[in-house]
Amino acid sequence: MISAKQIMKLSEEAYELFSKKHKRIEVELEFVNEEEFFELAEKSKLVHLEMEEGLPVKVGSLVMHGKKDIIVLCVDVINLLTKNENFVKALVLHELFHILDKKKVKNNMGSLIKSEERVHKQFIKEFPKYSALLEEVTSFSGQ
Ligand SMILES: [Zn+2]
Repeated sequence: MISAKQIMKLSEEAYELFSKKHKRIEVELEFVNEEEFFELAEKSKLVHLEMEEGLPVKVGSLVMHGKKDIIVLCVDVINLLTKNENFVKALVLHELFHILDKKKVKNNMGSLIKSEERVHKQFIKEFPKYSALLEEVTSFSGQ
């Protein structure tokens, strides 16, 4: 079981990795329980898209854009998926790319899909090991 405390530490490590390649972005971390997590996920268009694309809400993280961007993590969902701590870093890295990309995103599906593609490509390019891990863990369901 990966604890919330460990997830916090892993998230910070991911943030440091990311910040070596990009300017520091302002972001907060928030933990929610499973129920809250799925409620938030239902409100997020991008997460909906990811669910359809099979890169699902099952990943256990999402990002809320606002005055401050918040990465929302669900300890229970993460633990359902994996025991691999590096997976947490992969999740956070993926969400950080979304925050970086958000200025380019308009509020329509086409734009969201393009954003997901950009994020995906950039992630693979800069962190091949972590992007492969994210794919490996989240594609097991065969969705
Ligand atoms: Zn994504």
